[in-house]
Amino acid sequence: MSADLPEALPASTLVGHLRRVVGSTHVLTQDGGTDLSAWEQDWRKRAHGRALAVVRPGNTDEVAAVVQACAAAGHSIVPQGGNTGLVVGSVPDDSGSQVLLSLTRLNRVRAIDPANLTMTVEAGCVLQAVQDAADQAGLLFPLSLAAEGSCTIGGNLATNAGGTQVLRYGNARELCLGLEVVTAQGEVWHGLSGLRKDNTGYDLRDLLVGSEGTLGIITAATLKLHPRPACRLTAWAAVPSLDAAVSLLGLAQSRLGAGLTGFEVMGQFALSLVDRHMPQLRVPLWQQTPFCVLLENSDSESETHARSQFEQLLESAFEDGLVTDAVVAESLQQAHGLWHIRESIPLAQAEEGLNIKHDISIPVSRIPAFCAETDALLQREIPGVRLVNFGHLGDGNLHYNVQAPAGDDPGAFLRTHEERVNTLVFDQVAQHQGSISAEHGVGSLKAAKLPHYKDPVALTLMRQIKQALDPQGILNPGRVLSP
Ligand code: FAD
Ligand code: ZN
Repeated sequence: MSADLPEALPASTLVGHLRRVVGSTHVLTQDGGTDLSAWEQDWRKRAHGRALAVVRPGNTDEVAAVVQACAAAGHSIVPQGGNTGLVVGSVPDDSGSQVLLSLTRLNRVRAIDPANLTMTVEAGCVLQAVQDAADQAGLLFPLSLAAEGSCTIGGNLATNAGGTQVLRYGNARELCLGLEVVTAQGEVWHGLSGLRKDNTGYDLRDLLVGSEGTLGIITAATLKLHPRPACRLTAWAAVPSLDAAVSLLGLAQSRLGAGLTGFEVMGQFALSLVDRHMPQLRVPLWQQTPFCVLLENSDSESETHARSQFEQLLESAFEDGLVTDAVVAESLQQAHGLWHIRESIPLAQAEEGLNIKHDISIPVSRIPAFCAETDALLQREIPGVRLVNFGHLGDGNLHYNVQAPAGDDPGAFLRTHEERVNTLVFDQVAQHQGSISAEHGVGSLKAAKLPHYKDPVALTLMRQIKQALDPQGILNPGRVLSP
């Protein structure tokens, strides 16, 4: 494809050239009368940009040719997978000059190697399809998050996604052994290694994972698979405080070891929103307790073994006053129901109206103190403010979201308070040695904040890496690093 590229492509002919590269049906423009809002608007409908064109290549060579053409014409590129990202990283700005590069047509499972416990998939594969393909091979791809029905593995890797199984299996980065990447110059790095050991220099894979489309376009990945557990058992427990939740986590870790694959915490207000907006889901135990915890025990022996382990754990927890009430799912269906409640919190809060989202991490031991202090500071600042606090307690990761007082207009609340609330929460995070983005990434939403909260030397190194890999600045400019 690159051979017939003109040396410096005029902007006006770029779209025509892209049509020849990927086929005209795969280049969408406003002029063509197509509604592009599915690509131009972010998941939370907070940002709405305008693309020069939405380009949908069907293979890696086409991606490379698209990048070469955009580089020659000096048009920047915004890569997009499922467009479920929560930090405004995957939609174009409003200049009308950026090319939106959608990876969703690269959706083949290229290979599964059961003996090596790996699978190689293209970037546009939907996460759930990756999980299903692993399952059909009798194996487990454990990355799991509420957007799994529409997010793509390329997006998961580009954001180093976390989710509900990180406690045991790690983030997307830890589940990735190799990558195929199109560079900012339109070259293809063939790095699809299935090796668990390879110390031949700088780790480009780990650099690309989590780079949010700013250093290269991920076109395929070799992923780590795990044996499927014999049984997964889920329990839902009411805990009297966050301190109790942290102690319960320690107890569960010591009793269940690697079997503890999930430990989620959900505040009462977060659960009340699910109860209000999705009454059919029947949230258990939430009315009488400040927090509920969802625990998952993945057992390699049997359901009987898993159940008896859970019963002993909960008995000890009751005796120690860490749990006041609990239910253990009796069937797979019930277990799915409990997880569905947890995963419905983001949607339920969206129903309640926009809020100020934070995806923070702090050392687990400091979470109770962080919440007590920050809750109080916010209440003092905005009396009646409501906290949608939930998340992956086992990873020290909270979605600490701040909702308008009951009856207040969410839009006005955001306009008046967002900046102040962010500063207050992030300063608290910094005091507790935490991170202002645990799993969603930086995108453009937090890019301006990074200089305040990231180590200055680290930030300089990041800028130098960006300059070295993308000197023209055509890959997702303004994301992660502010101009
Ligand atoms: P997109 O939103 O399309 O893109 C995200 C970023 O990656 C953008 O910067 C984009 O430019 C870049 N990108 C996308 N594809 C590529 C590629 N092939 N090459 C290079 N760059 C690329 N996230 C979590 O980590 N944990 C959660 O528990 C979680 N829960 C969520 C729940 C809900 C209901 C929703 C809506 C989102 C949730 N998210 C969560 C956020 C989101 O789903 C993840 O960030 C996901 O990994 C994004 O995947 P995507 O394919 O939608 O990427
Ligand atoms: Zn999360």
